Amino acid sequence: MKNFIATVLVLSAAAVAATAQTNAQPRSVPDPEIAKMVKEVSAKNIEATIRKLVSFGTRNTLSEQDDPARGIGAARDWIYGEFQKFSAACGNCLVVEKQSFLQPKANRVPEPTTLTNVVATLKGTTDPGRVYVVSGHYDSMCSSAIDAKCDAPGANDDASGTATVIELARVMSKRKFDATIVFITVPGEEQGLLGATHFAEQAKQTAMNIEAMFTNDIVGGVTTQKASPNRNRVRVFSEGVPSNETEQQANTRRSVGGENDSASRQLARYVKEQADRYLRTFKVWMIYRRDRYLRGGDHIPFLERGFPAARITEVDEDYTHQHQTVRTEKGIFYGDTPEFVDFGYVANVARVNLIALASLANAPAKPKNVGIVTRRLTNDTDLKWDANSDADLAGYDVVWRDTTSAEWTGAKFVGSVTEYTVPKMSKDNYFFGVRAVDKAGNKSPVVYPRPTQ
Ligand SMILES: [Zn+2]
Repeated sequence: MKNFIATVLVLSAAAVAATAQTNAQPRSVPDPEIAKMVKEVSAKNIEATIRKLVSFGTRNTLSEQDDPARGIGAARDWIYGEFQKFSAACGNCLVVEKQSFLQPKANRVPEPTTLTNVVATLKGTTDPGRVYVVSGHYDSMCSSAIDAKCDAPGANDDASGTATVIELARVMSKRKFDATIVFITVPGEEQGLLGATHFAEQAKQTAMNIEAMFTNDIVGGVTTQKASPNRNRVRVFSEGVPSNETEQQANTRRSVGGENDSASRQLARYVKEQADRYLRTFKVWMIYRRDRYLRGGDHIPFLERGFPAARITEVDEDYTHQHQTVRTEKGIFYGDTPEFVDFGYVANVARVNLIALASLANAPAKPKNVGIVTRRLTNDTDLKWDANSDADLAGYDVVWRDTTSAEWTGAKFVGSVTEYTVPKMSKDNYFFGVRAVDKAGNKSPVVYPRPTQ
């Protein structure tokens, strides 16, 4: 969306020096179209979706595939129908697919089983090869992951994430974006991240250019925690050291740092920065770890294959309402049922996703081959990178922060150049990064430079 006519300030060298510590970039005011979409996200729709998914009794990956009323097959077909409905409403703007595969026997798969990812793709207008993926898992479990018969409502885990993805598809399919957004709901999460692994592996095989992936898993904001101060924030988990780090990269990291600067960590910073521009009362809480203790999620197969990814999850989990056979025991009710989901909270999580995805898909691609030049010993910092090919590119920001700081604190728009020397700021004393900026002021995530000659 290019609703803004941006004024790009072309500064003389002297003016650049005079404003060296300021932020002379194009627009940083919120995009009104994103603000409008944020308002369109509906807690009522999300509630209806969660209740519908729960109505299938169980969505265990091993449950019925061909019963129209009960089991994972009924859920699969209903989600597919929802995506098709949205597509019909936008002139077939979505490519809606059932991506089926036969999962061989595995730890939690006693017999070979067909699994089906339900995928809706909103193709980008100017850079369709650049892809952003948002997911939720539509399978569920009771106390046992391989019990296909027990009721497994899975309202929070993970009808909440699935409903988030469906609501995002509804709102975002009414718009156009530069890059492609893939809305995906997957099964087999509880069986070992199987649906997500299949998608990530296919993406790797076909060299899909996934610049970011978000999994929404347990985003219901359980109602038993309503008094908690954490009601107004959501956790975004990101790994610091890349899951696919090479030995050479590890050596560099041990030598000069960078353990807080993986592409996934930059993505988490981006989500927070963008959400802060639009949401006053709901915040992103960055968690500097790949996932919680004893738990894993659908972002991990993407990370392992080199795609930047983050996990989005509520703050105060209530384990009496996750992975529990529905029952009352010693006066305590167990079960992941809808009355423990706060639909307004889920809507806020959907808004965080929407802001991040729309900002990413409107922005230029991340700059490639960003390097910090280590040829000479100097107290200036020399950076270089490859030119972007985005038609609406305005230029680049060089950003920096103190080595102990969590977020980027300084930024300078340096124009449409492919190298820049930051005067009198030593690379030994700060972390630097580069991001691309378009004429409307949309920014890519920051790329952390690798040492180069
Ligand atoms: Zn889950």
